[in-house]
Amino acid sequence: MAGKAPRVVVIGAGILGASIAWHLSGHARVTVLERDSAPARGVTGHSYGWVGTGSRIPSEQPASFALEQQALGEFGRLEALLGPLPVAAQGALIWLDDQLQTCSMLAEQQAAGVNMAAVGSEAIRALQPGLVQLPEMAIWAPDDFAVEPDALTRRLLAAAQDEGAVVRGDARVLAVEVQGQRVIGVRTEQGVVAADIVVLANAMGAQALASPLGICLPIYEEPAVLLRFEAAGLALRHLLCAGSLELRPSLGGGLVSAADLPSDGEAGLAELGRSSIKAIGDLFALQGGITLQSIKAVDRPKTRDSMPLRTFLPNVEGLYAAVAHPGMILAPLLGRLVSEDILGA
Ligand SMILES: Cc1cc2nc3c(=O)[nH]c(=O)nc-3n(C[C@H](O)[C@H](O)[C@H](O)COP(=O)(O)OP(=O)(O)OC[C@H]3O[C@@H](n4cnc5c(N)ncnc54)[C@H](O)[C@@H]3O)c2cc1C
Repeated sequence: MAGKAPRVVVIGAGILGASIAWHLSGHARVTVLERDSAPARGVTGHSYGWVGTGSRIPSEQPASFALEQQALGEFGRLEALLGPLPVAAQGALIWLDDQLQTCSMLAEQQAAGVNMAAVGSEAIRALQPGLVQLPEMAIWAPDDFAVEPDALTRRLLAAAQDEGAVVRGDARVLAVEVQGQRVIGVRTEQGVVAADIVVLANAMGAQALASPLGICLPIYEEPAVLLRFEAAGLALRHLLCAGSLELRPSLGGGLVSAADLPSDGEAGLAELGRSSIKAIGDLFALQGGITLQSIKAVDRPKTRDSMPLRTFLPNVEGLYAAVAHPGMILAPLLGRLVSEDILGA
């Protein structure tokens, strides 16, 4: 690495911070500062990890759909450089609440160039043995997959460390240090870490660090729920999206599901757990054997225009913000683009 390589502090060891750190490492002197004792304990640690377009209606947000499609191509590059990714399931079997909705989603996805096909009940049974409650027609999305968010984040950080990056846990950033109009580092409880460039990759925490500098970020948070189950007798082969039930196997065993926050908020979580267990049992005609391990509502960072916030901020030279949803899908693309922005600056 050239002696004059910029010193970059990346705040946050979630999937975005990890991807940015890895893409920059080897080209910059990178330090990742994470307030938690371990990486991926924020939103990333509660992510469903669906990588694909199968949970989207393209016409609802065409610009972000197109960006996500572009982002999917970056996973091949990641795999070529990092080795096999921690993939929990390959392929998604999808049906919506009624067949008309499923057909129209399929038509939209195919028109957008997505590799998806209609499958009938026999093919559905072959793809996922054991299903007893199934529609006449579903969508098969062979290229969609689920990645374990925590494992991918750790993999990226380990690869960044191999290239010389420093990753520090228990390192909450209290403030961005500025001299004149220029970033000079960040303040932590353990002291100041000097930097030429500071990347706010700490999700909603970015606003708290930007506010004292007079900067308002166009971000907000929206909750979603992650559920984990033990289900000894159920071998799920693929991602399954059956109406409002999203289900996938976990690499560590058991099943993972994601859902919207109930209309009565956290008060409705216990009922959501019960109704999800019933829905899984009904799909596979299981009498018991499924237990809820955990259920948690988590605020996802989102941007006002649904496009990633990926920019140097005004008024403070050297301060960059990276906030995006859906972060698992977008992380490899954004990591590359952010590093190009920073190294080209
Ligand atoms: C239930 C659920 C399901 C989801 N499903 C999907 C999906 O299927 N596909 C998909 O692509 N996306 C999905 N998402 C969204 C995706 O998980 C997020 O977009 C992504 O994890 C955000 O990553 P991040 O790195 O920006 O944030 P985070 O993972 O929250 O990382 C930010 C880090 O910054 C740290 N931090 C905060 N403040 C400070 C500070 N002052 N100093 C130091 N460190 C700090 C935090 O501790 C945290 O570790 C889902 C999210 C949820 C909740």
